[in-house]
Amino acid sequence: MQTNLADWIKDTPEGKEAEAILRKCVHCGFCTATCPTYQLFGDELDSPRGRIYLIKQLLEGAEVTTKTQLHLDRCLTCRNCETTCPSGVRYGHLVDIGRKLVDERVPRSVGERAKRRAVASLFPVAGVFDPLLRLGMLARPIVPSALRGKLPANVPHAGDWPAPRHARKMVALAGCVQPALTPDTNAAAARVLDRLDISLVEAQGAGCCGALRFHLNYQAEGRDDMRRVIDAWWPYVEQGVEAFVMTATGCGATVREYAHHLQYDPKYAEKAQRISALTKDLSEVVANELDKLGALVDRRTLPAVAFHSPCSMQHWLGLRGVAEGVLAKLGYELTTVPDSHLCCGSAGTYSLTQPALSEELKKNKLAALQSGTPEAILTANVGCQTHLASGASVPVKHWIAEIDERLSRR
Ligand code: SF4
Ligand code: SF4
Repeated sequence: MQTNLADWIKDTPEGKEAEAILRKCVHCGFCTATCPTYQLFGDELDSPRGRIYLIKQLLEGAEVTTKTQLHLDRCLTCRNCETTCPSGVRYGHLVDIGRKLVDERVPRSVGERAKRRAVASLFPVAGVFDPLLRLGMLARPIVPSALRGKLPANVPHAGDWPAPRHARKMVALAGCVQPALTPDTNAAAARVLDRLDISLVEAQGAGCCGALRFHLNYQAEGRDDMRRVIDAWWPYVEQGVEAFVMTATGCGATVREYAHHLQYDPKYAEKAQRISALTKDLSEVVANELDKLGALVDRRTLPAVAFHSPCSMQHWLGLRGVAEGVLAKLGYELTTVPDSHLCCGSAGTYSLTQPALSEELKKNKLAALQSGTPEAILTANVGCQTHLASGASVPVKHWIAEIDERLSRR
């Protein structure tokens, strides 16, 4: 694609990055076939190629309007288009640049600003989201039905966290909403890894990975969250920690990109590279220990399960099939899931910013997941898990919590 960027952007780091991405696009349109919003609207401007054109026009100095903002807002940032694109167009990085510039030029309504500000201020703060959630759950019977659907009926018990005792040590991220919504996930990961002779610990004060604020377009605040995680984790790097293990693929995909997000920060660029390189998804860690794990699982009562691979897992991290492979090797029957490449509509805060689209995608995804009559749906990201659980007719769990339940107890 030929480009002619406007003077105000062309020599900036963002302008150079955007131009390099734009020039890779050959307009072929293959990406439209797998874009969930193009499938729903059938409008070129709700496809990756259309959005790339909108961002190109903005960077070339054209006027932007609420219409431009709407089409970028409707994008799930699922990156399905990236895994389809034969030319290696990094759409995700381009849309980050586009959204920031559009929001600087097109003011949002007071109500929309207040909603986004409230989510960005309250959700990532340790000690704030948890009591808010508990309050919401108590009020569940009397809140409007739209909100009721977003509040879980109950929260699973975390169970015991094994004391660190092994030479192999890894660090998990507690994250922002996960400890309140699914406290069993990290505890189950710690129990399973403990049986594999790996001790899992959480670093105090790490908090949110930064994805929540960054993708709501409070990009500077998101980067501050990333720096705080790096500061909390750095002592473990100095002690020679083996890996940072991510139990929510949405957070993992973001931490893997710290090196990108902080590349122009002279104080943090090198540290961010090191942290990104040391970051692994839990499925990668467990897949390397399968022989040992296979001997620990009681295979007699394994349920038939449908696996929902989050977009952050299959399209951002490129880990399609890894957790599914672990489950299959352990003896689980995996039911067939049509259109497994499509987003469930959770997409970070998308269910709050685009509730109608999010619901439609959830309905389609649940129909696909439940079409093979599984006894449970397993996934790998807290957002997808709670989103799907609000409409599923079978239990929805993190895959590690399922395996933890099947470990033979000594
Ligand atoms: S990120 Fe997802 S929703 Fe956005 S353009 Fe790409 S495929 Fe479509
Ligand atoms: S598939 Fe890639 S090269 Fe083709 S239009 Fe989409 S982004 Fe451009």
